[in-house]
Amino acid sequence: MLMNGKKTWTSEHDCQLMELKKAGKKPKEIALIMGRGITTIYYKSTELERKTLKINQRKVRRCLGGCNKDFESSSPGNRICPNCIKRDRSGVVDPVAIPSMGIN
Ligand SMILES: [Zn+2]
Repeated sequence: MLMNGKKTWTSEHDCQLMELKKAGKKPKEIALIMGRGITTIYYKSTELERKTLKINQRKVRRCLGGCNKDFESSSPGNRICPNCIKRDRSGVVDPVAIPSMGIN
């Protein structure tokens, strides 16, 4: 038991928090069960949700960049495979389609 009053948060706590959330406990109840402040519980559960979201968004998607191949995309907004991005940057690009490029 640490005596400096600051309790460490480990991955086991992550699991416990996740289980309690799954069980439908409210943050206030979780805080009581785990012996933590409610702000910690709020903070940790948003952090966990963000992590889970990131994992869920990563999946194989069809490339819209021209090659039509499946690739591992990191988010729903990531629809062009690395190969097509590389090809576009190497010059075969319509400047009208990408306004941010402008005219150099
Ligand atoms: Zn592609």
